[in-house]
Amino acid sequence: STDVTERHRMAEERERLLAEEQRQVRRLRELDRMKDELVALVSHELRSPIGAIRGYAEMLLDDPDLGGEQRAFADVIDRKSADLQRLVDDLLDLARLDAGRIAIDPRPVSLTRLLNQSVEDHRPAAAAKRLTVRVDLDRHLRVHADPARLRQVVDNLLSNAVKYTPAGGAVTVAARREGDEVTVTVADTGIGIPSEQYPQLFGRFFRASTAKEAGIKGTGLGLAIIRAIVEAHGGTVTAAPREGGGTVFTVRLPAEPPQEE
Ligand code: ADP
Repeated sequence: STDVTERHRMAEERERLLAEEQRQVRRLRELDRMKDELVALVSHELRSPIGAIRGYAEMLLDDPDLGGEQRAFADVIDRKSADLQRLVDDLLDLARLDAGRIAIDPRPVSLTRLLNQSVEDHRPAAAAKRLTVRVDLDRHLRVHADPARLRQVVDNLLSNAVKYTPAGGAVTVAARREGDEVTVTVADTGIGIPSEQYPQLFGRFFRASTAKEAGIKGTGLGLAIIRAIVEAHGGTVTAAPREGGGTVFTVRLPAEPPQEE
């Protein structure tokens, strides 16, 4: 009978521990939600003052009578407030993606055209660094995606490729249909990412040591946003070292089934 009471006591203890664990999980979820709300609220409240600071800095810069030193100060205010604006926009974007408050509105999109447009927009920045830009796309690629959000993904990958590739290098954009998926790759001959850092790459605020050592500025939010958007489309995004140096990013998206007309 001591055996029975002992078993009973142990069962009660297990139950108590389980209930305690569940309380902790609920508490952590609640804290996580509060953190997301705080980030969203703060970012939102920062938007308009930053916009005002930037607007006035630009007005000062527009004044032809502004003297040399004052112009230099106004220029710093303008650039730093632009950095802040981007950071706040990215934080808001992530908070909204987390909360499922970014409506992904998927429709048939010509990926070939979208990629060509994004490449054209990045040509001036690439040319300024004497980068070779190669484009290798299947014709008439169509995906089922939100065009504005997909454009954001592609723009971000391309601007990273340009940003992290030293002068004289190359950036290659390719896209293929593979079964019921479409694969987009953005490859560069740039500074690369140390292999042990790949697992953290898509985490928030993560910046690879190569980027920091090269003194290239950034927030580490772009790839986290890209991943959230791609996954909201039922796709995946991965990164790998490029043979011969540099990095390859691969986005896989569900292809739009061919239209029967
Ligand atoms: P940011 O560029 O603002 O730092 P991202 O989230 O876009 O933020 O990228 C996170 C990190 O991943 C970068 O800081 C950089 O270390 C690394 N990274 C992204 N793209 C590339 C690339 N094409 N080549 C090398 N490193 C890259």
